Amino acid sequence: MTVVFVSGASGFIAQELVKQLLQKGYTVIGSVRSPSKGDSLKSNLLKLNLPSDRFNYEIVPDISSPGAFDDALKKHPEISVFIHTASPFHFKAKDIEKELLIPAINGTKNALIAIQKYAPQVKRVVVTSSVVAVGKYGKYASPGDKFTEQSWNPIDFETSKKNTVYGYFGSKTFAEQAVWMFVEKENPGFSVSTVNPGMVLGPQAFPIRGRDKLNTSSEEINRLLKLKPDSKIVNVESTFVDVRDVAKAHIAAFEKDEAQGKRLLLIAESYNTQGLLNIVNKNFPELELPKGDPAKGDALKTAPDTWNTDVTKKILGFDYIGLEESVRDSVSQIIDGKIAQSRL
Ligand code: NDP
Repeated sequence: MTVVFVSGASGFIAQELVKQLLQKGYTVIGSVRSPSKGDSLKSNLLKLNLPSDRFNYEIVPDISSPGAFDDALKKHPEISVFIHTASPFHFKAKDIEKELLIPAINGTKNALIAIQKYAPQVKRVVVTSSVVAVGKYGKYASPGDKFTEQSWNPIDFETSKKNTVYGYFGSKTFAEQAVWMFVEKENPGFSVSTVNPGMVLGPQAFPIRGRDKLNTSSEEINRLLKLKPDSKIVNVESTFVDVRDVAKAHIAAFEKDEAQGKRLLLIAESYNTQGLLNIVNKNFPELELPKGDPAKGDALKTAPDTWNTDVTKKILGFDYIGLEESVRDSVSQIIDGKIAQSRL
């Protein structure tokens, strides 16, 4: 039986990943920051009648502490796949270097060093990177930019410290660069794949307890539901992929030989805030959200060739959930507390 380690198991993406791993028959050891987070995940799995006996957790309070993963790996020589999802994803850091850059970079290095030292039986490693390690944003972006799995965000360390958005983008870029540098320098006994998703939307793996504040990417939708009919719309443009597909891609990344050494760039569609609002207004008119300027919602669909992800699509071989379905599932879960089903 394959035992998979998932760092940051209590996160939005990781919870869906843990769920899908268990559904596929894997045994999972997750790292969480506190016993209460581990217990809550275990009890959520039990409530959905998932095989919670195949889920256990280890406490890793801070991935950036030297040797953070050493004890967990020493204790579990049965682990053969390591998936590193843990990384800070928020824009509220006061000290950008300390709260975003260092945990992302050192957390990733700590994971790789621990696997090399204490888990020689691990042959496959998957690291959750991001589209923001691939594209050009802010002062680096130009009209007509095109990106593929080969592209890199050119951001530098100093610019990353200028604001929290650049800080997050830098954190993902430098953490992923650390991965490929490690592979080149150390030639470890494991192969690595990275998963580079766009903005991850879609339902939470488990019923939502409080909708005041969800994880950063789910807030993209949750914050719209709090708008008043006369609120002004702040337009954000982004790329999107559903969380169920992101989890599925992490699993494919270690199951498929052709994913070894690859960056899997996951983008289902591009969107803007008006486009999200149009979908919510069409499907949930009873919420009486502002209409904005509906015609502007399709703006990004006119430039569909910015992102070429053909290499990834060929490796994964499955169709992605579309934006409308993803938004609909997210909103119904937030307003009705319905449990979303993973699509395997
Ligand atoms: P969440 O914030 O829900 O999950 C992040 C996880 O990392 C949490 O379990 C968090 O623990 C843990 N974590 C953060 N910092 C530390 C630390 N210093 N020590 C230990 N654990 C830590 O975010 P997502 O699920 O959205 O993100 C998961 C991964 O996916 C991240 O690497 C993120 O960069 C990447 N990603 C996310 C996208 C998205 O749109 N959601 C898009 C592209 C990439 P705790 O909650 O206890 O603090």
